[in-house]
Amino acid sequence: MAHACFVVRKFMKKYYDATKKFHRKFKMKGTNNEDMGFRLNLMTEELGELAQAVTRGKSRAEIFEENIDLLNLILGNFVSLGAKLSDIDKVFWQKHEKIMNREIKTINGKLRVSHYGNKKLR
Ligand SMILES: [Mg+2]
Repeated sequence: MAHACFVVRKFMKKYYDATKKFHRKFKMKGTNNEDMGFRLNLMTEELGELAQAVTRGKSRAEIFEENIDLLNLILGNFVSLGAKLSDIDKVFWQKHEKIMNREIKTINGKLRVSHYGNKKLR
């Protein structure tokens, strides 16, 4: 587990540093590009592209690319928020522990790891 964490952190650092470099190159600091409302629109657009790739049966490579577009935007959200990698790491593991302690449930006929109560959604 410790080795896996090291590898994940190493890759995460590479991706995060690359995303910071992208923001610096295009002088995004203080512009609409780092405004969360604008970024939410970009994410919605990319989520739509991913949805199209999936529902239209596009190739695995295209589905990968659309996921990378979303990953880039999510990393860019953290850059825009001025997060340090250690901030992301901390919050990631806090959330991970939370979701690891959830139960898997059947909600509307689908298996789902969720905090939603069965009474409400079944
Ligand atoms: Mg895309």
